[in-house]
Amino acid sequence: MMTSWTRKLLDDANDLIAAGRWRAALGCTLTVLSVYPNLDTALRLAASTVYFGTRAEVAEPLTDEGIRDPRLDSLFCTCQAAGCTYSWVSAGLFMTSDVTVTNPRGGHCERCDRYFCRHHFTPHGTCPRCDGDLDYAPRVSNGRPAMQTVRLNQPLVHVQVMREGTGRISPDYMKELLSSIAPDVFEDSPTIRGTTIYPWPDDCQGMAMAGVVLDHEEYLGDTYDMRVADGRDRAGTHWVLVKIFARMPKYVDPDFSPDSGESQRS
Ligand SMILES: [Zn+2]
Ligand SMILES: [Zn+2]
Repeated sequence: MMTSWTRKLLDDANDLIAAGRWRAALGCTLTVLSVYPNLDTALRLAASTVYFGTRAEVAEPLTDEGIRDPRLDSLFCTCQAAGCTYSWVSAGLFMTSDVTVTNPRGGHCERCDRYFCRHHFTPHGTCPRCDGDLDYAPRVSNGRPAMQTVRLNQPLVHVQVMREGTGRISPDYMKELLSSIAPDVFEDSPTIRGTTIYPWPDDCQGMAMAGVVLDHEEYLGDTYDMRVADGRDRAGTHWVLVKIFARMPKYVDPDFSPDSGESQRS
């Protein structure tokens, strides 16, 4: 049984979609998925929101950051052609009856069990690996690699950015980087600290974490979760991000009872 908290958020999401407000609608559904990451109704609504919200001309379209949210990773299919990173959402994840997809973004080969985007179909629309027929609306997705840093259902209290280079990190750069890789920063108002370092160290993650602990020994305690990730920005400059979460739930379903049969994210 779905709780009334869950039901209300999903109803709100449907009302917002009807009003063309896809971004806000996805926000409601993602809040549910923060607490119930495996809830089928919410996953199906999220899949259809991403599917239609990126196609339609709407008042409030989805943002790139919203689409890259890690809570959606399992819903995407990713092309398995060498070097291709194209990913898409299959209509089969939310359509209940048989679907005919015109102009498909990708397909699943039932013979060799691979996923391919339309750029890699054979000229006659079959599997480039085994020439098998493709299902353009598979009901199972193969997921996509994470496009943002880890997000927990716990409030962020501190963020440390270490960037390759010298001098200070400008507020504009910080805002753009965090919007792209850690938009949860703007939901929770953590303290944010930025430093630059040159040359870039081999153990950049270890060095960034050591820097955080030097200033905040308390974050090593068991009331916090420390997560670290590194990558490169659009210009190819290295960054490391350390996220400190307080070990307490961020979103709580006030109507949850252990007898409901749904499992909550701990
Ligand atoms: Zn195949
Ligand atoms: Zn491809």
